Amino acid sequence: MVEKTAEKVQENQEQHEGDYLDEEGLHRCGICGERKENLYLLMGRERLFPCLCRCDRNRLEKQKEEDRKREFDIRVSSLKSVGLTEPRFREWRFENDNGSNPKLDIARKYVNEWEEMRKKNIGYMVMGPVGTGKSFFAGCIANALMEQGISVMMTNFSRILNELTKYHADKNEIIAGLVSYPLLIIDDLGIERNSEFALEMIYNVVDRRYCTRKPLIVTTNLSYQDMTRKDLDIEHQRIYSRLMEMCFPVIYQGKDLRQKERDLKLEWMKLNGD
Ligand SMILES: [Zn+2]
Repeated sequence: MVEKTAEKVQENQEQHEGDYLDEEGLHRCGICGERKENLYLLMGRERLFPCLCRCDRNRLEKQKEEDRKREFDIRVSSLKSVGLTEPRFREWRFENDNGSNPKLDIARKYVNEWEEMRKKNIGYMVMGPVGTGKSFFAGCIANALMEQGISVMMTNFSRILNELTKYHADKNEIIAGLVSYPLLIIDDLGIERNSEFALEMIYNVVDRRYCTRKPLIVTTNLSYQDMTRKDLDIEHQRIYSRLMEMCFPVIYQGKDLRQKERDLKLEWMKLNGD
């Protein structure tokens, strides 16, 4: 046992040109001056055992740190390869913002306060016309959280519905998988097909996250008016009302519409009884 430890120590020792023998005849490091071996009395006999000097210990610590970093990088890249379901999502990072995305501070806040958001089950509903940067907004959050080692799934309902309708698909397992992510991001809500089955599945995912208190971020071209129309069928109504309960509105639109945005937020709050 002792011998094995000694071998291991020896393996981690580095010899330096200036290493020398001290007055007791023991090897010392020529750089830090610490001993590289010690004398022990073992079963009545003196024996030499190697030990690590400061340089060796520092080098080992650095190696361990590098190993930890490498492992973490592997974890992040595997989180991304699973959680970013489209290649373009990878490009949507805060670093790639050209300054034209006015709402990114709200996205940064989400990342910075993630623990709080998670505990309180707060999500965002990012609304606005096509091409305003809503998906970029959501992608920045996804990438930044994954880079901290947090597991996020960013996908859309068309893709989910494709999975669910595959031959032999285990619907419960797929939905349980989606519910298990600390954060689920649904890009482009409203473009998926509207069959009874689709709406049922969408409601299942949303409602199960709601019941297990797990946040959702949704981007959509649908407007507040679209989601609160009086003539909506009950299937859509219950999906939208759940989402409005779970998500805080983030509205992408022109400057002239800021006042409207304030009014909408007030209405949204009232709807939730705050
Ligand atoms: Zn040394």
